[in-house]
Parts: sequence; structure tokens; C-alpha cells
Amino acid sequence: MIESRPKGEGQRLRLARLMGMLDEKGQITAKPILSKDRSLFNQKRYQFFLEAPDWLQISSHCCRIMKKNPAHSYSHKTGRKPITAQMASESRLRTQKWLQNGCNGFDLKEPISNPMSFWFEEDVLLYCYKHNIEICSVYGDIVKETEVEGQYDFEDLGIFDLGRPQLKTTGCDRTGCVFCGFGCHIEKGEGRFVRLKRTHPKLYDYVMRPWEQGGLNYKEVIDWINEHGNFDIRY
Ligand code: SF4
Repeated sequence: MIESRPKGEGQRLRLARLMGMLDEKGQITAKPILSKDRSLFNQKRYQFFLEAPDWLQISSHCCRIMKKNPAHSYSHKTGRKPITAQMASESRLRTQKWLQNGCNGFDLKEPISNPMSFWFEEDVLLYCYKHNIEICSVYGDIVKETEVEGQYDFEDLGIFDLGRPQLKTTGCDRTGCVFCGFGCHIEKGEGRFVRLKRTHPKLYDYVMRPWEQGGLNYKEVIDWINEHGNFDIRY
């Protein structure tokens, strides 16, 4: 049997702490505690996007358009309700929703069940590892963290995270839409676009190719972001 993390209050506290939702007295807050400039984000660092040229359109609507709208439309047409594998630990918003609604939002405007809400990524990896469950090839293999680094083995030394070996994947650690650039500027190591070039050269060519040649023009976009934001997004 798989060891399970403490659920209930312990899990709630752990998530709230991770998401910056604990006040000075250690109480869970309804919303994340904002920094002095009232933002969750480093606005100054991304201010340069306000000067983006017309050909570089920026919005926060990709998830709504590409994922939520089609899912809602399917739900309305069929009367079926979604069950997803989203986890509270994936974002502050998801933590907030889980703290408000629990795993099953029966009374929400769009009812949804998220039975894995209280899982952490390491729970998923441990479950797949112990049960030898096949995972998508882009994730590679599940190995103990130190096997990736080629260093000593924490398990041998008896050092565990809550009694467990720390696990990670040898390929992608997370995936979204294949061309998603979210967070690509803070990636360490190979980076998603360099990896895409190695693993899926035809897709890479499509995404980097200029508009006029039928591509998605990412090369020009990344060059502009690197230059104006002083980033080092590799491709
Ligand atoms: S995975 Fe990336 S591109 Fe896809 S909907 Fe989410 S943020 Fe947008």
C-alpha cells in the first residue's frame, strides 16, 4: 500500500504556506497575501511587454479559449460534468479554489470534480513508480532525484522527504500545450524549445518559422523578448 501524506488540516496548512496564504499568526487567508505593490507578480520585470509591437499580441486568454471554452461547450451539449486531475499545489488560484470548495464543486456554476486536488507532484510520481505505470514518453523515466544528478543516493543515506525517496522525471517535468512558453524564461538546463528541436524537429520548424512562411513566428517573438526583457530564452 502506498504511504499517503497527512490529509485534512496538515495538507491545507502545507499548501497554504506554499502559496503564501498564511498570515503572521499562521492562519489560512482567503486570498494570497500580496506584496507591497499589491501584486502577486514582479510587475517591473515584465513592464517591457507594454511596449510590445503590434505584431506581438499579448493576453492571458489562451487557457480560456483553448481549454475552458471547448470543455464548457462539450459539457453544455452533453450534460456531462468534468472530472480532472488538477492539483491544488499547481497554483495559488487552484489552492484558493480547493480551500473554498474541496475536491467536488457540486454547487458551482460549472460543477467539477478534482479528486486529486490534495495530491502533490511527488505523490503522482511515487504512485506511478511503485505501480510501474507507463507514462507518456516526453516525461522520460521516473528516477530518484540523485540518479539524475549522478550524485550520492539520499535513500541510501536514509534522508527522505516525509519518509519517501524524492523522485523526478528524466524528460519534461511538466507539460501543457506543446508550444506553451509559460515560464520558459526561468528554465534551467536544456529548455523546452531546445528539447523540442531535438525530439520533434518538424514541430520545432513550424513554431519557429515566420508568419509569412506559414509558421508561428516564435523565433522573432523570442528574440524580441530576450532583447527587451533581458532574458535568455534558448531555442
Ligand atoms: S499550457 Fe500554456 S499555452 Fe496552453 S493554455 Fe496553458 S498557459 Fe496557455
